[in-house]
Amino acid sequence: MNALTQTLINAAPGLMGELESLYKDIHKHPELSMQEVRTAKIAADAMEALGYAVTRNVGKTGVVCVMDNGSGPVVMLRADMDALPMAENTGLPYASTVTARDADGIEVGVAHSCGHDMHVTWLIGAARLLATNRDAWHGTLLIVFQPGEETAEGARAMVNDWDEGRFPKPDIILGQHVMVGEAGTVTYRPGVTLSAGDSLKIKLFGRGSHGSQPQTSIDPVIMAAATTLRLQTIVSREVAPTEPAVLTIGSLQAGTKENIIPDDATIKLNVRTFNEDTREYMLKSIRRICCAECDASGAERAPEFSTINSYPLTENDAAATEKVAAAFNSEFAEKVSLAPAPASASEDFSVFGRSWGVPYVFWFVGGTDPSIYTKARQDKAINKIPSNHSPMFAPQIHPTLETGLKAMLTAASVWLCAEAAA
Ligand code: ZN
Ligand code: ZN
Repeated sequence: MNALTQTLINAAPGLMGELESLYKDIHKHPELSMQEVRTAKIAADAMEALGYAVTRNVGKTGVVCVMDNGSGPVVMLRADMDALPMAENTGLPYASTVTARDADGIEVGVAHSCGHDMHVTWLIGAARLLATNRDAWHGTLLIVFQPGEETAEGARAMVNDWDEGRFPKPDIILGQHVMVGEAGTVTYRPGVTLSAGDSLKIKLFGRGSHGSQPQTSIDPVIMAAATTLRLQTIVSREVAPTEPAVLTIGSLQAGTKENIIPDDATIKLNVRTFNEDTREYMLKSIRRICCAECDASGAERAPEFSTINSYPLTENDAAATEKVAAAFNSEFAEKVSLAPAPASASEDFSVFGRSWGVPYVFWFVGGTDPSIYTKARQDKAINKIPSNHSPMFAPQIHPTLETGLKAMLTAASVWLCAEAAA
């Protein structure tokens, strides 16, 4: 018998209506990474009204809320708040029409195409039910609203700003993400559940010249082209076929005009790995190949490498995941499943647990209309369902809202409702 889930939800009439309005409001007012001022204020004000000790502006726009409710474990529940620099194309009545200036000052559309609006709504709902039912649990709750997940800045910024002793150190950190999957279902995986993601910018230096006099140049276009092809051999020739890895060159830029050999070329690439050794190996190989190709071209200056962003592996603690899975199984029965493989997506959620040496569990909640999902599965067309980061991404509000709220409470109750002697 779980004291914190369906009973609490049933005992809060009107809660789902309120949360639905909140979700639509946040959805309509998305904010870019590290600019989540309005969303953070909504979350912080709501937590303050519920009696949490609220600290604002942790890691720029992050919010940390603490509720001490007797002896017991310190449980941290985290939601990310940021939206993406893209226009929404869902056609929903509550779709975003917001535009904003990104970090480079460029005007961009802004949309909650990764579902972080749902994460904030789940967490506010869970925090509210826990605050208004303090006799049902004991311990300390840390409710964390994190900025800048999409740029891999937010968790790091919060950890840097956490300060020794400023907030209690958690015993367990829990988080969840909405993604393509039948709404109403929950998926988990012990161990590696999300890939590491590393994005690099590599500048290759040649020597510019007139297009008619190649002999006076060191052509960075040739250098970049050869480097691009050679980099593809890391996954195909250097990494074992049983080890999943991705290397995508998403941007390749050089020159302005057909008869000018440019001075330099810039490659931007993204690496996804599922194992720390493979990650380190690939990052080393990328450097080796870039330097060697520049040498091969006779470049007079070594290439310049800079990190655009870096997401660590999300590696769930096996024992903690087992406890969460047992609670999910009793709460969701056939609606819960073990993911067959890690997902090739990345998160900065694990930065908290990695920085503090604290176990963490991160799981997924399906957000796709079940009839659409079932039909897509029959048609072998699941890949055609608009996924996170698609301008068409549109989670079905019900029962996704209920499911994530229940999942968060269920997982938290493993620690918050544990017997003192356990
Ligand atoms: Zn995302
Ligand atoms: Zn996300």
